[in-house]
This record gives sequence, C-alpha cells and structure tokens, in this order.
Amino acid sequence: MRKCIWCNKQSDKLKEITVRQIWIPLQHGKAFVCPEHEEKLRGFYDRVRRYALLFLSLVTILTLSLVVSALLGNNNYLFGYLFIGSFALIGLVIFIFPFCSQSTFDLMSIATSIKAARIMGGIFFALGTIGLVLALFYG
Ligand SMILES: [Zn+2]
Repeated sequence: MRKCIWCNKQSDKLKEITVRQIWIPLQHGKAFVCPEHEEKLRGFYDRVRRYALLFLSLVTILTLSLVVSALLGNNNYLFGYLFIGSFALIGLVIFIFPFCSQSTFDLMSIATSIKAARIMGGIFFALGTIGLVLALFYG
C-alpha cells in the first residue's frame, strides 16, 4: 500500500503529486500524500526551495567556525566563546530550517523529522546559550 510522504500513513485515498528535486535530500519524482497534508507538504517544499542555499551556507560557515575555534581555542577565551556561540547558532539554524536528509525523511516521515530536527536544534541552542552565559560570567 502507498504511504503519505508527509506523515507515513498508509491509505488508498492518497493523492499522487510530482515533486521536483530542490536540494539533494528531497526526493524527486512522483510521491503520494494525504489530501489533508498536501498544503503542508507544498508549504514545506517552498520553504526548502527558498532557504536551502542560505541553510547550507550558514551550516557550512558555522561548522568551519566550530572546527577552527576548537583547534585554536585551547588557551584563548575568545575562541572558546566563538566555539560555544557557533554551537548555539547551529542549533538555532536547524530550529528555524528543520531540513533533514532524505534517509531521515524515509525513516520517520517528513512531519516527524521536522519535529525531531526542531527538538535537536532547540536543545543545541539552549545548551550553547547556557554555556555561553556561564563562560561569560564564570569563565
Ligand atoms: Zn499524510
């Protein structure tokens, strides 16, 4: 039986739609979606199409900043702050743009993977922010 790519539920009332590949993780071609989830799915695709490049650029820059500050941060406060700050910002970026990989979508459905990404991003951001506050006050 066919599965809705938004919620992973099986049904014989699914609507067939064509999705264009807009960035690597999203599948290309024909997909099935519950009629009530079509609007959400299209909204999500629009968001990914609009922000994929921004998302990838931010994650790349922040990851580089994380690695560089980790390598240089041993005896330097500023790099330590940069490290924690980059960590928090990666969390924030993932929270705002919960774009997962195709394998995550296949495993959990798009709806669930968005929630999982938001929770993970939120935890990263909270930990990073707490870490930064502690470092600034007690570091
Ligand atoms: Zn559905």
